[in-house]
Amino acid sequence: LIQLYLPLNFLGFVYREMKQGLIDMEAMFGLLKQEREIADAPGAQPLKPGPGALVFEDVRFGYRPDRVILKGVSLTVPPGKTLAIVGPTGAGKSTISRLLFRFYDATGGRILIDGEDIRSVTQDSVRAAIGVVPQDTVLFNDTIAYNIAYGRPGATEAEIEQAARLAQVHDFVLKLPDGYKTRVGERGLKLSGGEKQRVAIARTILKNPRILILDEATSALDTRTEQEIQTALRDISRNRTTLVIAHRLSTVVEADEIIVLQDGQIAERGSHGALIAADGLYADMWRRQSEAVAMAEAAAAAQEAA
Ligand code: ADP
Repeated sequence: LIQLYLPLNFLGFVYREMKQGLIDMEAMFGLLKQEREIADAPGAQPLKPGPGALVFEDVRFGYRPDRVILKGVSLTVPPGKTLAIVGPTGAGKSTISRLLFRFYDATGGRILIDGEDIRSVTQDSVRAAIGVVPQDTVLFNDTIAYNIAYGRPGATEAEIEQAARLAQVHDFVLKLPDGYKTRVGERGLKLSGGEKQRVAIARTILKNPRILILDEATSALDTRTEQEIQTALRDISRNRTTLVIAHRLSTVVEADEIIVLQDGQIAERGSHGALIAADGLYADMWRRQSEAVAMAEAAAAAQEAA
């Protein structure tokens, strides 16, 4: 009994740890199906096909009853559009994406995908409709082909390669000792943060979800990698409903709408131009970030000159 108990308990621990972030929720659900807390409603049907309209209606949520985290969040992302969520750490940004992926159910309000309440349809169909590119991708101890194909089990070699090309990771794979058959992960070849992120992008391209969640990396990658990743992300989010937990000025500026979340509430919303003109919280964040970027660039230039 002890032998059985220990590993299960360990999985529970891993699961709780991973829930803290947006760390590869999809991979985790494949591994830990038995750990689900949320059950399908009796007779739940799969989500019907649709263009990917996303609506949050007065969504309220707390991890514990005594501490409310989201205090009535309403937002709409029309099909194909991009919404960027910005705000201080702890504001509830990741919580929004965890609710959308149905890690938890909202305690008040509703989340609708193409008009259907996500609580009334099967979880599997909700998760199939959503692709997540997390900050930190977990690779399985398997081949790079397997890791990419995870986005769509049963994908052909040609499809895997095509996705890898679009994610700008194909050339990298060809240089590996065994190409697509190279084993990666903890017990195989370790990939850099940028390489792992491109694998995650390839997975998502294969999955072809109607809604995309991007959790941008806070840590800086080198500039070239960064640009390649940005290009790949822009490609997959084009014409696809996208929710970005944004840390980079460039993504925020390009979003169709920006929401400033503060203490579980939407403090400001609008386009970049409108929010700058409003000269509130967002304008303040923008000024501070622009200054930080300018300072970093000046320091880099000085170092190069020396
Ligand atoms: P953000 O993404 O804006 O940094 P989060 O959505 O991760 O913020 O967290 C919002 C708040 O919820 C924080 O105060 C955080 O401590 C709390 N929180 C996050 N995950 C959990 C959890 N699993 N259990 C309890 N509280 C949590």
